Amino acid sequence: MIQGTLNKMKVEQGEKIQYSLYLNDQLINMNERIGSSFTMELTGAIFCLKCNSRTKTSFNQGFCYKCFLSAPECSQCIIKPELCEAHLGKGRDPQWEQDHHNQPHYVYLAASDAVKVGVTRDTQVPTRWIDQGASSAIIFAETPNRYEAGKIEVALKSFFTDKTNWRNMLKNQVDDSIDLISEKWNLETQLPREITDFITDDEEVHTFNYPVLSYPGQVNSISLEKVIRFTKVLVGIKGQYLIFEDGSVINLRKYGGYQVIIG
Ligand SMILES: [Zn+2]
Ligand SMILES: [Zn+2]
Repeated sequence: MIQGTLNKMKVEQGEKIQYSLYLNDQLINMNERIGSSFTMELTGAIFCLKCNSRTKTSFNQGFCYKCFLSAPECSQCIIKPELCEAHLGKGRDPQWEQDHHNQPHYVYLAASDAVKVGVTRDTQVPTRWIDQGASSAIIFAETPNRYEAGKIEVALKSFFTDKTNWRNMLKNQVDDSIDLISEKWNLETQLPREITDFITDDEEVHTFNYPVLSYPGQVNSISLEKVIRFTKVLVGIKGQYLIFEDGSVINLRKYGGYQVIIG
Protein backbone atom coordinates (compact mmCIF):
# COMPACT_ATOMS: atom_id res chain seq x y z
CA MET A 1 0.00 0.00 0.00
CA ILE A 2 1.34 3.41 -0.96
CA GLN A 3 -0.22 6.65 0.24
CA GLY A 4 0.23 10.03 -1.38
CA THR A 5 -1.27 12.90 -3.33
CA LEU A 6 -2.45 12.17 -6.87
CA ASN A 7 -0.90 14.02 -9.75
CA LYS A 8 -0.92 13.26 -13.43
CA MET A 9 1.18 10.32 -14.53
CA LYS A 10 4.60 10.93 -16.04
CA VAL A 11 4.79 9.59 -19.58
CA GLU A 12 7.66 8.46 -21.75
CA GLN A 13 7.61 7.74 -25.46
CA GLY A 14 8.83 4.28 -26.43
CA GLU A 15 7.81 1.17 -28.33
CA LYS A 16 4.93 1.30 -25.82
CA ILE A 17 4.18 4.45 -23.83
CA GLN A 18 5.64 4.10 -20.34
CA TYR A 19 3.52 5.45 -17.45
CA SER A 20 4.82 6.28 -13.97
CA LEU A 21 2.75 7.53 -11.07
CA TYR A 22 4.53 9.44 -8.32
CA LEU A 23 2.72 9.44 -4.98
CA ASN A 24 4.69 12.04 -3.05
CA ASP A 25 8.20 10.72 -3.84
CA GLN A 26 7.25 7.06 -4.28
CA LEU A 27 7.26 5.74 -7.83
CA ILE A 28 4.69 3.25 -9.15
CA ASN A 29 5.53 1.72 -12.53
CA MET A 30 1.99 1.63 -13.90
CA ASN A 31 2.76 -0.53 -16.96
CA GLU A 32 3.80 -3.34 -14.62
CA ARG A 33 0.38 -3.18 -12.96
CA ILE A 34 -1.51 -3.88 -16.19
CA GLY A 35 -3.16 -7.30 -16.11
CA SER A 36 -3.50 -7.38 -12.34
CA SER A 37 -5.79 -6.07 -9.68
CA PHE A 38 -5.53 -2.41 -8.69
CA THR A 39 -6.99 -0.80 -5.59
CA MET A 40 -7.53 2.88 -4.99
CA GLU A 41 -8.94 4.36 -1.80
CA LEU A 42 -9.53 7.99 -0.87
CA THR A 43 -8.36 9.22 2.53
CA GLY A 44 -10.72 12.21 2.27
CA ALA A 45 -7.97 14.84 2.22
CA ILE A 46 -7.27 17.09 -0.77
CA PHE A 47 -4.07 19.14 -1.04
CA CYS A 48 -3.58 22.03 -3.46
CA LEU A 49 -1.01 21.14 -6.15
CA LYS A 50 0.31 24.71 -6.09
CA CYS A 51 0.55 25.75 -2.41
CA ASN A 52 0.11 22.31 -0.80
CA SER A 53 -2.48 23.60 1.69
CA ARG A 54 -5.42 21.40 2.54
CA THR A 55 -8.63 22.27 0.72
CA LYS A 56 -12.22 21.03 1.05
CA THR A 57 -12.88 21.31 -2.68
CA SER A 58 -10.56 20.92 -5.64
CA PHE A 59 -10.84 23.61 -8.31
CA ASN A 60 -9.52 23.27 -11.87
CA GLN A 61 -8.23 19.69 -11.30
CA GLY A 62 -6.18 20.25 -8.16
CA PHE A 63 -6.11 23.80 -6.82
CA CYS A 64 -7.45 25.47 -3.68
CA TYR A 65 -9.83 28.38 -4.22
CA LYS A 66 -7.16 31.00 -3.50
CA CYS A 67 -4.76 29.52 -6.09
CA PHE A 68 -7.61 29.01 -8.54
CA LEU A 69 -8.14 32.80 -8.41
CA SER A 70 -4.47 33.80 -8.39
CA ALA A 71 -2.14 31.09 -9.79
CA PRO A 72 -0.84 31.60 -13.34
CA GLU A 73 -1.53 27.88 -13.96
CA CYS A 74 -5.25 28.71 -13.64
CA SER A 75 -5.34 31.86 -15.77
CA GLN A 76 -7.51 32.05 -18.86
CA CYS A 77 -4.56 31.85 -21.28
CA ILE A 78 -4.10 28.19 -20.30
CA ILE A 79 -7.39 27.32 -22.01
CA LYS A 80 -7.40 30.27 -24.44
CA PRO A 81 -3.81 30.85 -25.58
CA GLU A 82 -4.97 33.73 -27.79
CA LEU A 83 -5.61 35.74 -24.58
CA CYS A 84 -2.02 35.29 -23.31
CA GLU A 85 -0.22 38.52 -22.37
CA ALA A 86 3.22 37.05 -21.68
CA HIS A 87 4.72 38.72 -24.76
CA LEU A 88 3.52 42.09 -23.36
CA GLY A 89 5.24 41.46 -20.03
CA LYS A 90 1.83 41.09 -18.37
CA GLY A 91 -0.33 38.33 -16.87
CA ARG A 92 -1.15 37.09 -13.37
CA ASP A 93 2.53 36.46 -12.65
CA PRO A 94 4.68 38.23 -15.28
CA GLN A 95 7.82 36.24 -14.38
CA TRP A 96 5.99 32.92 -14.65
CA GLU A 97 4.46 34.08 -17.94
CA GLN A 98 7.92 35.04 -19.17
CA ASP A 99 9.36 31.63 -18.26
CA HIS A 100 6.45 29.51 -19.51
CA HIS A 101 4.47 31.42 -22.14
CA ASN A 102 6.89 33.92 -23.68
CA GLN A 103 8.71 30.87 -25.05
CA PRO A 104 8.55 28.95 -28.33
CA HIS A 105 5.21 27.21 -28.82
CA TYR A 106 3.89 24.74 -31.35
CA VAL A 107 0.52 24.55 -33.03
CA TYR A 108 -0.07 20.88 -33.82
CA LEU A 109 -2.52 18.60 -35.55
CA ALA A 110 -3.32 15.35 -33.75
CA ALA A 111 -5.27 12.41 -35.12
CA SER A 112 -7.73 10.19 -33.28
CA ASP A 113 -11.40 9.86 -34.33
CA ALA A 114 -10.94 13.25 -36.03
CA VAL A 115 -8.21 15.79 -36.60
CA LYS A 116 -7.73 17.99 -33.55
CA VAL A 117 -5.78 21.24 -33.37
CA GLY A 118 -3.91 22.29 -30.24
CA VAL A 119 -1.21 24.52 -28.81
CA THR A 120 1.65 23.51 -26.56
CA ARG A 121 5.03 24.74 -25.44
CA ASP A 122 7.88 23.15 -27.42
CA THR A 123 9.20 21.40 -24.28
CA GLN A 124 5.80 19.65 -23.79
CA VAL A 125 6.17 17.57 -26.94
CA PRO A 126 5.38 14.64 -27.03
CA THR A 127 3.98 14.67 -23.44
CA ARG A 128 0.98 16.79 -24.39
CA TRP A 129 -0.06 14.45 -27.21
CA ILE A 130 0.27 11.36 -25.03
CA ASP A 131 -1.71 13.03 -22.20
CA GLN A 132 -4.54 13.56 -24.69
CA GLY A 133 -4.43 9.99 -25.95
CA ALA A 134 -3.66 11.02 -29.54
CA SER A 135 -2.92 8.23 -32.02
CA SER A 136 -0.54 10.38 -34.01
CA ALA A 137 0.47 14.03 -34.29
CA ILE A 138 2.39 16.44 -36.49
CA ILE A 139 3.82 19.88 -35.75
CA PHE A 140 2.03 22.46 -37.88
CA ALA A 141 3.60 25.77 -36.89
CA GLU A 142 6.19 27.16 -34.52
CA THR A 143 5.78 30.59 -32.94
CA PRO A 144 7.93 32.71 -30.60
CA ASN A 145 5.23 32.84 -27.89
CA ARG A 146 1.90 31.43 -26.74
CA TYR A 147 -0.19 34.34 -28.00
CA GLU A 148 0.87 33.89 -31.65
CA ALA A 149 0.22 30.14 -31.41
CA GLY A 150 -3.22 30.88 -29.97
CA LYS A 151 -4.10 33.18 -32.86
CA ILE A 152 -3.22 30.42 -35.32
CA GLU A 153 -5.23 27.88 -33.33
CA VAL A 154 -8.28 30.16 -33.49
CA ALA A 155 -7.94 30.33 -37.28
CA LEU A 156 -7.64 26.52 -37.50
CA LYS A 157 -10.75 25.94 -35.38
CA SER A 158 -12.87 26.65 -38.45
CA PHE A 159 -11.30 23.54 -40.04
CA PHE A 160 -10.81 21.21 -37.07
CA THR A 161 -12.05 20.56 -33.56
CA ASP A 162 -9.99 21.58 -30.54
CA LYS A 163 -11.69 19.04 -28.24
CA THR A 164 -10.86 15.39 -27.64
CA ASN A 165 -13.87 13.05 -27.62
CA TRP A 166 -12.62 11.05 -24.64
CA ARG A 167 -15.18 8.26 -24.97
CA ASN A 168 -14.11 7.57 -28.56
CA MET A 169 -10.47 7.91 -27.53
CA LEU A 170 -10.92 5.24 -24.84
CA LYS A 171 -12.81 2.93 -27.20
CA ASN A 172 -9.89 3.36 -29.62
CA GLN A 173 -12.14 4.68 -32.36
CA VAL A 174 -9.48 5.95 -34.71
CA ASP A 175 -10.01 7.27 -38.22
CA ASP A 176 -7.19 5.48 -40.08
CA SER A 177 -7.84 7.46 -43.24
CA ILE A 178 -6.45 10.66 -41.68
CA ASP A 179 -3.24 11.76 -43.41
CA LEU A 180 -1.67 14.46 -41.23
CA ILE A 181 0.98 15.42 -43.77
CA SER A 182 -1.56 16.18 -46.48
CA GLU A 183 -3.82 17.93 -43.93
CA LYS A 184 -0.88 20.17 -43.06
CA TRP A 185 -0.10 21.16 -46.66
CA ASN A 186 -3.78 21.49 -47.59
CA LEU A 187 -4.13 24.04 -44.82
CA GLU A 188 -1.21 26.03 -46.11
CA THR A 189 -3.11 26.82 -49.30
CA GLN A 190 -6.14 28.09 -47.37
CA LEU A 191 -4.60 30.35 -44.76
CA PRO A 192 -3.39 33.96 -44.89
CA ARG A 193 0.28 34.88 -45.13
CA GLU A 194 0.59 36.00 -41.49
CA ILE A 195 -0.12 32.42 -40.50
CA THR A 196 1.68 30.49 -43.24
CA ASP A 197 4.93 32.28 -42.32
CA PHE A 198 4.96 30.24 -39.10
CA ILE A 199 4.36 26.82 -40.72
CA THR A 200 7.31 24.45 -40.17
CA ASP A 201 8.85 22.33 -42.93
CA ASP A 202 8.96 19.10 -41.00
CA GLU A 203 6.79 16.16 -41.98
CA GLU A 204 7.51 13.87 -39.05
CA VAL A 205 4.38 12.10 -37.91
CA HIS A 206 4.75 11.03 -34.28
CA THR A 207 2.81 7.87 -33.45
CA PHE A 208 1.83 6.55 -30.04
CA ASN A 209 1.36 2.97 -28.92
CA TYR A 210 -0.50 2.81 -25.60
CA PRO A 211 -0.20 -0.09 -23.17
CA VAL A 212 -3.75 -1.45 -23.48
CA LEU A 213 -4.64 -5.17 -23.42
CA SER A 214 -8.26 -4.60 -24.47
CA TYR A 215 -10.35 -1.52 -25.18
CA PRO A 216 -13.85 -1.25 -23.68
CA GLY A 217 -16.98 -1.43 -25.83
CA GLN A 218 -18.86 0.82 -23.42
CA VAL A 219 -17.09 3.38 -21.26
CA ASN A 220 -18.25 4.14 -17.71
CA SER A 221 -16.47 6.81 -15.78
CA ILE A 222 -15.61 6.18 -12.11
CA SER A 223 -16.46 9.20 -9.96
CA LEU A 224 -14.43 9.52 -6.78
CA GLU A 225 -17.20 11.77 -5.45
CA LYS A 226 -19.37 8.64 -5.28
CA VAL A 227 -16.94 5.73 -4.96
CA ILE A 228 -14.32 6.12 -2.26
CA ARG A 229 -12.69 2.72 -2.72
CA PHE A 230 -12.49 0.31 -5.61
CA THR A 231 -10.53 -2.78 -6.64
CA LYS A 232 -10.55 -3.67 -10.32
CA VAL A 233 -8.34 -5.40 -12.87
CA LEU A 234 -6.33 -2.81 -14.76
CA VAL A 235 -6.30 -3.64 -18.50
CA GLY A 236 -4.68 -0.54 -19.94
CA ILE A 237 -3.69 3.12 -19.80
CA LYS A 238 -4.36 5.74 -22.46
CA GLY A 239 -4.05 9.50 -22.14
CA GLN A 240 -4.30 10.05 -18.37
CA TYR A 241 -7.02 7.39 -18.05
CA LEU A 242 -6.79 4.01 -16.37
CA ILE A 243 -8.96 1.41 -18.13
CA PHE A 244 -10.38 -1.54 -16.17
CA GLU A 245 -11.62 -4.98 -17.21
CA ASP A 246 -15.30 -4.11 -16.60
CA GLY A 247 -15.17 -1.11 -18.98
CA SER A 248 -14.91 1.46 -16.22
CA VAL A 249 -12.28 4.18 -16.53
CA ILE A 250 -10.83 6.91 -14.35
CA ASN A 251 -9.18 10.15 -15.42
CA LEU A 252 -6.36 10.53 -12.90
CA ARG A 253 -5.72 14.10 -13.97
CA LYS A 254 -9.20 15.11 -12.81
CA TYR A 255 -8.30 14.06 -9.26
CA GLY A 256 -5.02 15.94 -8.91
CA GLY A 257 -4.47 16.81 -5.24
CA TYR A 258 -6.63 13.98 -3.85
CA GLN A 259 -4.81 11.96 -1.23
CA VAL A 260 -5.15 8.26 -2.01
CA ILE A 261 -3.91 4.88 -0.95
CA ILE A 262 -2.99 2.59 -3.82
CA GLY A 263 -2.61 -1.15 -3.45
ZN1 LIG B 1 -3.35 26.61 -3.22
ZN1 LIG C 1 -0.03 33.11 -20.69
